[in-house]
Order: sequence, then C-alpha cells, then structure tokens
Amino acid sequence: MPPKKKSTGPPAAPLPAPNASHPCAALLPAALSPSSLADRPHSASYHAFLRSPFYPTPSSKRDTSPPPAKRKKKAAAEDVLPPLLETAIDAAAVQRKLLAWFDTVKDTRGMPWRKEVNPAQQTDEERAQRAYEVWVSEIMLQQTQVVTVVGYWTRWMAKFPTVELLAKADIEEVNEVWKGLGYYSRAKRLLDGAKTVVDNYDGHLPSTAEELLGVDGIGPYTAGAVSSIAFAQRSPLVDGNVQRVLSRLTALHAPQAAKQTSNFVWALADALVPAQPSPSSSSSFAADPDPETDPTSSPHFKRRRPSSKRDDLSDVGGPNKPGAWNQALMELGATVCTPKNPKCGECPLSEECLAYAEARYVAHRPSSASSSSSTAAEDIEDLCTLCSPLPYDTPSEAKTHNVEVYPMAKVRAKKREEETAVCVVEWVPEGTEGEGEEGRKVLLVKRPEKGLLAGLYEFPAVDLPPSDDPSTAFAGKKHLTALLSSLLSSPSLPAAVSSSSSDETGKHPLILVSRTALPVVSHTYSHMIRTYHPERLVLSSPSSSGPPALHTADSAPRPKGADKDLARSRPGFGKWVDASAVEGQNLGGAVGKVWEERQAVVSGKGGGSSGGGGAKKGKKAPSAAAAKGKKEKEAAAEKGQGSLLGFFGKKMGVVKVEEEKKARKEASAEDDDDDDDVIVVEEETKVKVVEKKVYKKRRTAPSSDEEDD
Ligand code: SF4
Repeated sequence: MPPKKKSTGPPAAPLPAPNASHPCAALLPAALSPSSLADRPHSASYHAFLRSPFYPTPSSKRDTSPPPAKRKKKAAAEDVLPPLLETAIDAAAVQRKLLAWFDTVKDTRGMPWRKEVNPAQQTDEERAQRAYEVWVSEIMLQQTQVVTVVGYWTRWMAKFPTVELLAKADIEEVNEVWKGLGYYSRAKRLLDGAKTVVDNYDGHLPSTAEELLGVDGIGPYTAGAVSSIAFAQRSPLVDGNVQRVLSRLTALHAPQAAKQTSNFVWALADALVPAQPSPSSSSSFAADPDPETDPTSSPHFKRRRPSSKRDDLSDVGGPNKPGAWNQALMELGATVCTPKNPKCGECPLSEECLAYAEARYVAHRPSSASSSSSTAAEDIEDLCTLCSPLPYDTPSEAKTHNVEVYPMAKVRAKKREEETAVCVVEWVPEGTEGEGEEGRKVLLVKRPEKGLLAGLYEFPAVDLPPSDDPSTAFAGKKHLTALLSSLLSSPSLPAAVSSSSSDETGKHPLILVSRTALPVVSHTYSHMIRTYHPERLVLSSPSSSGPPALHTADSAPRPKGADKDLARSRPGFGKWVDASAVEGQNLGGAVGKVWEERQAVVSGKGGGSSGGGGAKKGKKAPSAAAAKGKKEKEAAAEKGQGSLLGFFGKKMGVVKVEEEKKARKEASAEDDDDDDDVIVVEEETKVKVVEKKVYKKRRTAPSSDEEDD
C-alpha cells in the first residue's frame, strides 16, 4: 500500500467547470466516483499515449491476454506497459501550447546559459562549445536553485572556458570554484567527464544521447538535456520537475521508483518531444524525423487530426524545437506546476491536464454522483495496470482530491546514522598562547581524489565503528590519538595526548596548551546523517621550530590492526594553514560547521567545554550561567597544561535524543519540499572506484545516489 498522504484540501480559488471538450471528458464521471478515487480502477486509456520506441508494439491482443490477475503478475514480471489504446493526450496541442508559453517566459529568470541559437547554423566548434556550457549548467542546476547557479556558472566559465582547460585542472582548482555550491561530487563528475571528452572524443562532446552516456559522469538526464539543447536531437529527459508535470498531465499515481513507472514516464517524455524540422543544409547534427520514432507519424496522431498536416511548430519554440521543448517542460515544473500550490489557472496545459480535469470534476460533481460507483461499467481488462490506489481512506477525504496527489508520494529510505570524532589541531608559538590568531596554525588533511567530498580538506577525523559507544569520548580518544600520531612526524605528540600516561614535561618540545570539547555538530547528507564529535587541541613549541612536521605520503606509517579498517583522514596529506585562512580553504559543509563552533568558542560566544557535553549545533543557546562556567573552564584550560586523559575519559558531546529526533524530522520535511525550483535528478552515472582498502568506508566513492553535501 502506498503511504497515506495528508490531504491538502481543494484549491482555494473556485475551479471552472470541467471542459466538455477535454480528451477524457467522457471518462471522468466513470473514473471519479469516491470509491473509484480510492481504488483507482480507471481505464487503461487514461495512460495510453503515442507510439514510442520504448513502447511495446500492440501485438498482444486483448483476447489473447491472460486473466487480469495473472496479467498483472505477468506485467510486473516482464515489465510491460498497458496495451496501446486511444491516446488520452493531444500531443500536438500540448506541444504547441507549451512552446508558445515558453516563448513568453524563457528569459524571465535570466539564465546566461539559455541561448536561442540554431544549431544548424553553427560550426562543429560552436556546437561543441555550446554543449559544454549546457552540460556545466545542467550539472550545477541539479539540487540547486537557478538564482544560486547563475553566479557559479559565470565564474566557472571564466575559469574553465573550454572543456580542454577543465580537463587540465586538478580537483583542488575545481573545488575552489565549486566551493559553497554543495554536492561536490558533481564537480568531480564534470572533471572526470572533461577528461573523457578530451581523451576519447577529441575535445568535442558527442551529439547523441547514446554517445553522451559514454562520457564519465553523464547519465540519461544530462545526455537528454545536452543532446536536445545543444544539438537539437529529439532526445527525452526526465528530472523531478518533468516527472511531476507528466504524472499530473496523465493523472499517473504509481510508485515513482518502480521500473514500470520509470519506463512509462520516459516513454511519454520521448513521445512528446517534437521533431526538429529537417535542416536545409546537409549538416548531420540533427536527426531527420524518423517514422519509427516521430510521434506525429503515429496512426493515433493521424486519427486525432485527420484533416491536418503535421504541425511543424514553425511559429513557436524558436529554431531548436527539441531543446526548447525540454527546457519548457522543466520551466513549467519549476515555476507553474510546482509540488505545492501549482498555478493551474495560469498553466498553458490546463485544458489537456488530466489531474486538473479530475480536480475540476470533483469540485463540481453533482452530489448525486458521489454515491454512485460506475466502476462496474469498466471492462476489467481495460483497467490501468500502472496506478496504485489514491491515498484516501474515506469518501470524504476523496472530496478534497486535487492535483497535488500526483505524482505518488515517494517512500523515502531512512538515512543511516553515523558518528565521527574530529580534532581541530592548532599550533601556536610558545609564549603567544593567549594572543589571538596571530601566528596560529591549524592542521587540515586532504581527502582522497575520489569519493565523498573528493579533494576537499577536513580536520583530522575518524569515523567511529558502530561497535564503539558514540556517546562517550573513549572511542574518540582511542582512534584520534592513533590518527594524530600518524599525521605528525616530529616532534611526536606530548605523552599526555597519547594513550601513555607517562609524562615527559620539560623534555618534550611540543607542549599541550589546552583541550576543549566543542559542541556536537550534525550534518545531513543525501544518504546519511553524520554526527560529529569535535574537540579542539592546542599545542605549542618554540617559534623557531615552527609547527610540528607532518608525514608525507611516502613516510606516513600505515595503520595496523583494527585501525587499518577504520575510515579516517589520510596520513601524508596534511598541511598547516594560518587560522585566519581556514575559511578560505576548500572545506565541506560539516567541516565549516565545526570551524564555526571553534570560532564561537574563541570569541567567547560558543558552547565549547572542557570535558564535553556540548550542545548540538543550532539548538538552544546555553544559559548565561552555563556560558560563564564554560568560559571559566576554557580560560583555565588555556592557562595550564594538563593531561588529556581526563578529558577523553569524560562524556563528550551527549546528544539530546528527543531534540535530535525532532531536528531530523524537520530536516526531512524540508528535504521533501526543497525541489520547488531545482532539478532533482536520479540518474546513474559511472564513478570509477580506485581506492585503498584502508579508507573503504566513508572515504571511497559513494554510489550514484549518494550525494555528499
Ligand atoms: Fe500542473 Fe495544474 Fe498545469 Fe496540470 S494544470 S500541468 S497540474 S499546473
């Protein structure tokens, strides 16, 4: 059973009466009685559409079909779609109306990458350059709002104006430009893809979606976008916005992750992309209309429009029809057909939209119709095999039916929860311990070039094994001590920091100045929630000696025993930076949060404490008394050296469970709503995994749907 979706009530403004000329007007009363709204036994013709290459040929005649129950099973097993019946969507009308609407709004949001050019009149070089620009914009727009992307895209194109220049960059340069945009794996994908284009395609992005899929980091969505927008290829694309628009257009209420649903939506998207008129030149960049794939050549199209010639759409959609169509569909989803409160009254497709027709019917249904179920009138073999029941338990709930019930709500997988111990290691010249940031250095470690947060810098960190109790500092002590020892080459850590309790005060040139537990920080990634237990460790030595030397990649000791299976910062990849320069480094979001906590402590505004118990970031501010106590403890800690053993042994970063749960619930709710204006893409991209076993957990390549920030 699908999850129960809370009814959002009928649209506020009164709806116009159902349109008698709507293609499915005759079906509406039959399909929309309260009981059928709950059961969803509408006709398969609701979801039939024009022929497409994805669509099975109508060879399976109805009279040879197995009985419905068996057929349902078989359908699932073979992943076939419902029989091809009458088309419920007037594709020609939809194309014309949407393209005409797009002509009026395409410049509204000021996207510098959106250009009206005729690929037929461009040289190969110009088309390849345009493809690069579109590719960068599409990757940046994934999970990110247009208004944010504009500045990043402009800076990116200034720094890497061509794919060749991008291919020569390293991950650090790329991250520098990407800094702050989040989901850093996208930057890595662009870099990997640029290298593939230079190595395998002579520096020119290929023109067809099929070939584009051969480029590292490009999946079906991006392939469709680049091939249609830059090369006028008749390629479909489906992102979150398109899925929503097409689901509403066809009143499709089916599990979004199901392969059968995905096939249907992709096939529908494919069927609706208009063909590019044949160019007069002999250029081969754009495909001529193919009778097998051109929807307007379908017999259904001809039957619907017997007297008209194919609509060439010459007066709408500019010079590139497929590109304009795909952008128009996404624009509609981003600005009109939004997840919440869609503007159906302003929608160019309102006359064709089945979801809107249903909503209008329900709002205007005569009371006598509400008690009669007409499902018996349906031929059971014609019933839809795609749709699931609508989420109404009672007929009165069904009365609030509106378009927002489409697409079917996703069942979101619970994010896994993990814990990490982090140490902000600082060094100050001896004698200047209390003199601010001047001369103070902070240790950062570079992450691997592949995987989560690739190439970014972090404070030394160890992912705590599930077997360790994350609520105590004991696990952090054990693992961080081993990690720090492997990062510093000389002098070694003061004995007080190590697991040894012996003290060499007076002999050791590296002095432990202070130790402070920082407030716990929680960071939500697309696939997990990670709780960071940070501490601040201040060391000093004579200024002539400088900060402790660090191991190089060659000299770093290899982890042994249990440590070798831990995901942790890499010895040999550390560097000291000025404290004032930390914020300018390429840091991930969680590292930035930890640094904010450290800054708050230094400025006296934070909740850091000697001995832990830090409050979770973003939660209640500590009371004045508590803050005073903390400051006193910090001051005491700054003054004197001391063993870290006591500190490590105490509770560190106790997270208030209820607060945590509530915050996560809110964050999850925000996640659900955050795709108003962004491209939500779930596409499989190739990510090469070349990693050492030691860092196999957090620091290796995530799967394609695991984003990093
Ligand atoms: Fe979306 Fe409403 Fe337009 Fe239908 S009529 S496509 S639901 S905005």
